Amino acid sequence: MSTLMKSKVRAKNRQKRRVRVDLASIRSVDHDCGGCATTEKSCCARYEVCVTAAELNRIILLLPEVVKLCPHLGTDEGYDNVFEEVGQGLFALDTTEDGLCTFTFVLDHKIRCSLHTVGTALGLPLNKVKPKACLLWPLSFSEGDEVLSVVDDALSFPCNSRRRNQPRQLCSAFLASMELVYGEGFGTALDRKAGKGSLRTTLIRCR
Ligand code: SF4
Repeated sequence: MSTLMKSKVRAKNRQKRRVRVDLASIRSVDHDCGGCATTEKSCCARYEVCVTAAELNRIILLLPEVVKLCPHLGTDEGYDNVFEEVGQGLFALDTTEDGLCTFTFVLDHKIRCSLHTVGTALGLPLNKVKPKACLLWPLSFSEGDEVLSVVDDALSFPCNSRRRNQPRQLCSAFLASMELVYGEGFGTALDRKAGKGSLRTTLIRCR
C-alpha cells in the first residue's frame, strides 16, 4: 500500500472512532443504580435493547450460568432463542410477559441484570458481558458518527437526578461506564474537558 493510501486509511479509521460528546447534557445529571423495585421504573423494561452479533455470541457463552438465575431461559433442548434479528447484524432481546428484558431476575426485591451478576461472579469485565447500550444508559449514542448524550426521559427514572448548580466534574458512574465502553483514559479525558468548562467536545475512542 502506498504511503498516501495508508494515511487515507488511517484518517478514515480515526474518523470512525470519533465520539462527539454533549457535555452540557451529561454534566446536568447524576446517576446511581441500586436496582429497581418496580417494572414501571426500570430501564430494563422501557426500551427495546439491541445487540450486535459479537455481543450476542458473548452472551450465548454465558447462558449455562445465566440460566441458573433465569430458569425461564431453559428448554428441554437447551436454551430459548431470545434474539430477534431486526436489522443486518443487529438483534433485539426478548422480553418477559410484563415487558422486562428476558435477562432480568429478582434478588432482594430488586430487579437485576443476570448478565451483570454472572459477569461479576466470573470476574469478567462488564464490557465483555453486557450490551453497550445497557452499560452506557442513561447515556445514549447515535449510530454512525457517534454522538453521546443523556436520554430525553432520563429524569423520569428515580436513579437519575438533576444536579444543582451543574458542577463541572462528571458523575462518577458515567466516567466508569465510558471507560468501560470507549477504553481506558476516555472518561478521564472527558472529565478534564468538562473541568475546563467545555459544553461539547470530540474524542477518539480506544475501543
Ligand atoms: S441486558 Fe441486562 S441491563 Fe440490559 S436490559 Fe437486559 S437485564 Fe437490563
